Amino acid sequence: MNEASLRRRLIGLYAELAAHTEPECAAHCAKPRTCCEAQYCALAIDHAKSHWHVDLVPTWHAALPLMGDDGCTAAAHLRPICTAHTCAVCEHGTKPGDPAWTARYQSLTRTIETIEAELFDDCERAPLR
Ligand code: SF4
Ligand code: SF4
Repeated sequence: MNEASLRRRLIGLYAELAAHTEPECAAHCAKPRTCCEAQYCALAIDHAKSHWHVDLVPTWHAALPLMGDDGCTAAAHLRPICTAHTCAVCEHGTKPGDPAWTARYQSLTRTIETIEAELFDDCERAPLR
């Protein structure tokens, strides 16, 4: 696969990962998400610029530069740490009691990591989780 194809695949995988993790949070946290912090917005802004040549534009939000009226304004692939994050994975490395959810999560993140290893230099890769 050429670089453009790999990037398209990566964007799709991150969108799938976001669709997989968002329902885990939707039932627990109101927007803005309680685990959002300015430092993660800053990481996303840096990642978007350095890996995708995208300038993420700060919103009106005083505390969270990427938070908008309907949640985060950054596409899933531009904020990899946030997209991959759930409380359960952070705490246990899995979703306890739901092996199917965990297997899907691990499959998506493994595939993402493989593509990122091919696309980005090791020192540039975004750590997931
Ligand atoms: S990861 Fe946890 S704290 Fe963060 S939005 Fe999801 S449920 Fe809320
Ligand atoms: S980049 Fe988006 S999801 Fe991540 S901390 Fe900022 S507002 Fe929250």
